[in-house]
Amino acid sequence: MIDVPINSVKGVGDALAANFAEIGITTVSDLLFFFPNRYDNYEIKPLSDLLHDEKVTIQGEVIGEPVVTYFGKRKSRLVLRVQVEYAVVKGIMFNRPFAKKQLQPGDFVTLTGKWDQHRLQITIDQYKKGKVKHDQPIQPVYYAKQTLKSSQIKKVIKQAIDQYSAAIDEILPEQYLEDYKLLSRTKAIQELHFPSSFQTLKHAKRRFVYEELLLFQLKMQLLRKQNRERTKGNNQTFDLSVVHQFVDQLPFVLTKAQQRSLNEILQDMAAPYRMNRLLQGDVGSGKTAVAAISLYASIVAGKQGAIMVPTEILAEQHLDSLRSLFGEKATIVLLTGSVKGKKRKEILTMIEQREADIIVGTHALIQEDVSFANLGTVIVDEQHRFGVNQRKALRDKGIDPDVLFMTATPIPRTLAITSFGDMDVSQIDEMPVGRKPVETYWVKENMLPRLLQFIQKQIDQGYQAYVICPLIEESDKLDIQNAVELYQQLQETFEQNVTVGLLHGRLHNDEKEEVMTAFASNQIQVLVSTTVVEVGVNVPNATVMIIYDAERFGLSQLHQLRGRVGRGDVQSYCILIADPKGDVGKERMRIMTETTNGFALAEQDLQLRGPGDFFGKKQSGLPEFKVADIVQDYRALETARNDAQMIVYDNLLEKDPAYQPLHDYLKQTFKTDGITFD
Ligand code: ADP
Ligand code: MG
Repeated sequence: MIDVPINSVKGVGDALAANFAEIGITTVSDLLFFFPNRYDNYEIKPLSDLLHDEKVTIQGEVIGEPVVTYFGKRKSRLVLRVQVEYAVVKGIMFNRPFAKKQLQPGDFVTLTGKWDQHRLQITIDQYKKGKVKHDQPIQPVYYAKQTLKSSQIKKVIKQAIDQYSAAIDEILPEQYLEDYKLLSRTKAIQELHFPSSFQTLKHAKRRFVYEELLLFQLKMQLLRKQNRERTKGNNQTFDLSVVHQFVDQLPFVLTKAQQRSLNEILQDMAAPYRMNRLLQGDVGSGKTAVAAISLYASIVAGKQGAIMVPTEILAEQHLDSLRSLFGEKATIVLLTGSVKGKKRKEILTMIEQREADIIVGTHALIQEDVSFANLGTVIVDEQHRFGVNQRKALRDKGIDPDVLFMTATPIPRTLAITSFGDMDVSQIDEMPVGRKPVETYWVKENMLPRLLQFIQKQIDQGYQAYVICPLIEESDKLDIQNAVELYQQLQETFEQNVTVGLLHGRLHNDEKEEVMTAFASNQIQVLVSTTVVEVGVNVPNATVMIIYDAERFGLSQLHQLRGRVGRGDVQSYCILIADPKGDVGKERMRIMTETTNGFALAEQDLQLRGPGDFFGKKQSGLPEFKVADIVQDYRALETARNDAQMIVYDNLLEKDPAYQPLHDYLKQTFKTDGITFD
């Protein structure tokens, strides 16, 4: 048992225990799982093996008197020369003038400090006389913000390991340790704190990477299973052949990926649990088409369907495209914030009386006065912009419909299975045939005159262009000012036959709408915009996308913006104006010009920028791991996920005695996570 208060460790009194409590450590278990941030290496290596800028330990003989120079107030620098192997190494020590007396010519010394390979120089942290040999050459270093020193923590942890290592229970079944060649929990804890070599340290880390990911995936799988059990009885019964007839009369044939995703969705809908699925796919890959077919299945099942989108413009676009897709087969209504008064009452009645089959809307859909007669399926478009609260609001209305989240921001698989771990994921990773990929170029700003000529030519051929404004970080206001200036400038530049429009976040909704409608009907040919245009806008006649300051955007966001063009049958172009300084920036621009697959870009973005930056600061939704790194450890993540699925769906926790310790551990650990065990 290691779940005992920390003051049961010898030498830990109330004061020290209070200091530990400040950094969240109250039990021996907490203590043992407070891992070092780094390790100092006191191994003595030959000069030729030392690495520049690393902390190293060397031994040799002092030659000549050390020299101390003073500077500033009470500051000093001691320089000494040490014969190490064949070379003379210079040692520097700051503010310890007294060391001069202890380090005399002929003395043999052991020095530890930061190594400068170019100058053969060491900046000394620690010195010892004689041939010191550490019995533990790799020493842990712990970081704690408050009152605790690393050396104090180290001492307490050492004592705790001595007292309690026999009490650390293995939680993984024996078979796992054998199959994956993992260290036991006890051994791994010892090695993580006091490694006997860097090799075993790596092993110890590997064990905890797996353990951490397995526990996380178990939590996700248990949540998923319980969600399914909780919503038992939620099945929509539809005649599949009627749904297929609908698919057959569409003006196109579904791609394989669409077909696969649709099957996954229909299976969920027909199954006796609530669907909780994410549908990912690039702009134009045909997600909405798949969603529409799913809504149709709901209608066939005698239920209503709803589709929620983040903006009114999008709601109207969806309304139009659904109406043309469904024709007479469904009554489709619009419910947004601007549907008011008598019209709103009428629509609410239609929804209540089940005269409306499909309801398209914004957040207005989940307001209190809306009561659905019989809601079977909800599609939530661009789930990034919908918070957990909105999802819950629907549930709180007493309805637990099948929910499909759609997003055009492809999320790398590793992130998808971590941050949406309790969801099922469908991917449309192929485009309908005949689509022309958007040709993408990267230019510097001095190409602008030629660019403008190019836009003029496209407009003369009847097409339209977007120009995304320079970004000024952290400042909406300046961004808008920028947009206004660019707008005025372009108005003067283009010929008489070109109307330039302006779109930014500060415009009122009806102003925005007006601009978008004018652009959609080609009354505006060049639309200058901030990034508000990003989400879901559909103007197939636009063939050019110019993006200023492209280096400031993430690859996924650039890809989103690029997705505004290339929606019709003609060749489209995306031009990135950027002057990135670093190699990574240049690499990113190059990737954009070469890749049009959103999933591939997302993977690259993740590799280049890391998981934290991938989602942006606002919403990461990523769990924090102590030892695991979901980018580097993606293989362990996949393994852990498969294992967790097997454990949960084969009921191994209950059935197999080998899983008893794990079962007990989960009961303890997941107490507060809304997971219930019998
Ligand atoms: P998304 O929602 O993923 O952006 P949509 O479903 O709106 O994509 O599809 C984009 C366009 O492609 C629409 O005009 C749609 O009618 C058409 N489309 C969808 N699926 C196919 C397909 N399999 N073959 C050809 N065109 C398709
Ligand atoms: Mg269902």
